Amino acid sequence: MNRWPRIGIGYDVHAFGPGEHVMLGGVRIAHTHGLVAHSDGDVALHALCDALLGALALGDIGHHFPPSDERWRGADSRALLRHCGELLRTRGYVVGNCDLVIVCERPRLAPHIALMRACIADDLRCAMEDVSVKATTSERLGFTGREEGIAAQAVVMLHPNGDSP
Ligand code: MG
Repeated sequence: MNRWPRIGIGYDVHAFGPGEHVMLGGVRIAHTHGLVAHSDGDVALHALCDALLGALALGDIGHHFPPSDERWRGADSRALLRHCGELLRTRGYVVGNCDLVIVCERPRLAPHIALMRACIADDLRCAMEDVSVKATTSERLGFTGREEGIAAQAVVMLHPNGDSP
């Protein structure tokens, strides 16, 4: 399976609800609302996990971490990301690069992008230069524009690990 590069795509949305912070890209960010979720609601890491699982054709995040499973209640999404990292390494791959887009009007994400990239690089055992995180608004249009929730998209490229058989 590990002779060629593989790509994957991921997308996730969570609605705003009561709370005083959101988790995005593994970073806790103070906000006027939280994100409603079974886990910590980190849409960016969920989209990235789905992209990694997609690249491996291993189904989706709901299959690997079902909301019905009490183990994942309030789960740290960085643990889910590290699990996906293990899955790709055991199949003879390393992360070539990944690119994320987070869509929201608020909170303002620019001050947190560098730390998100560092968290993701750490969890996936790749270089920060191979991890891109971008933030944008939807110009006040749609559910993200109305500040009803946050959306995230991710793409990844996996490379065969030259050291593996
Ligand atoms: Mg999710």
